[in-house]
Amino acid sequence: MDSISQRKIPVQEGLFTWPAAEPQLIASKCKACGDVVFPKQLSCPDCSGDEVEEILLSRRGTVYTWTIQNFPPPIPPYAGSGDRDTFVPYGVGYIELPEGVRVEGRLTENDPEKLSIPRWTLRP
Ligand SMILES: [Zn+2]
Repeated sequence: MDSISQRKIPVQEGLFTWPAAEPQLIASKCKACGDVVFPKQLSCPDCSGDEVEEILLSRRGTVYTWTIQNFPPPIPPYAGSGDRDTFVPYGVGYIELPEGVRVEGRLTENDPEKLSIPRWTLRP
């Protein structure tokens, strides 16, 4: 790899702290109703209040639900080779953060036997 391909750049400015040893997602919190929104917004989508503050979201949360990506997604946006023979399945899920926000992301685990869905997320 050359130096350009090794350089890490954010997909979009303002989504998370960068550069940082431990990046955090950047959200907004409404000063009127406390609603937290990611990505951050200039006003509150819940009460339409325009007094919001920027907050950094927790780096850990609880898996809300998940799935395993078992085949290469279309290119783009997938950044891999697209080769089915070398593709390594990976987990994708929604994570519930302590601030009350759910974010979607790639999981560090891809073994379905090691993943579960908490009972509180399942409907009766
Ligand atoms: Zn609000």
